[in-house]
Amino acid sequence: MSHAKGLIFLGPPGSGKGTQAQLLSAQFTIPHISTGEMLRQAIAQQTELGKKAQHYVDQGELVPDELLLDLIRERLNQDDAQNGWILDGFPRNVSQATFLDKLLSELGKFSEQAINLEVSDHLLIDRLLSRGRKDDNEETIRRRLDVYREKTKPVIDYYHNHGRLTSVDGNPPPEEVTASLNKIVAN
Ligand code: AMP
Repeated sequence: MSHAKGLIFLGPPGSGKGTQAQLLSAQFTIPHISTGEMLRQAIAQQTELGKKAQHYVDQGELVPDELLLDLIRERLNQDDAQNGWILDGFPRNVSQATFLDKLLSELGKFSEQAINLEVSDHLLIDRLLSRGRKDDNEETIRRRLDVYREKTKPVIDYYHNHGRLTSVDGNPPPEEVTASLNKIVAN
């Protein structure tokens, strides 16, 4: 059985997950799978999923699990994901994490590793405010950070308790973070 690389990027909004995931994706030629990006695309195209998800994304709330689980299952079954992938923005709560575990054990060939990018709060807010996405206004940012603390932090404990978590200091400039990640992922 081959062991394809599955990387799960955790960390709060603004921690640099997207940027770092994109770089590693190019380096290892494995897809960068961002549920936020998939949702933004669905919203822009006003698909059924997009229409259902829009309100939640605009408010900085989590989109209900049932809208995401099939999306992830289908995405991980696509051809380009068979040698590995980087998940960015999923899982976002413990029920998504247990769903992913079950799915990966069914697929049977991925050895997954969760990476937590740790960044101090004031840096997060500065970064988010300078990014200019529609959901990057101050009120929504505050809500997204609250949702992160409440729902996503337990996901970090979940991977920690399962011995599959590596934490990385995400405060330094992006190139330094990339260098730290490279060391971890190459192992
Ligand atoms: P992101 O680009 O990862 O910051 O995600 C943007 C928004 O998409 C979030 O604030 C949520 O509304 C929604 N979203 C992305 N991923 C998930 C997920 N795994 N579960 C629920 N909602 C999500």
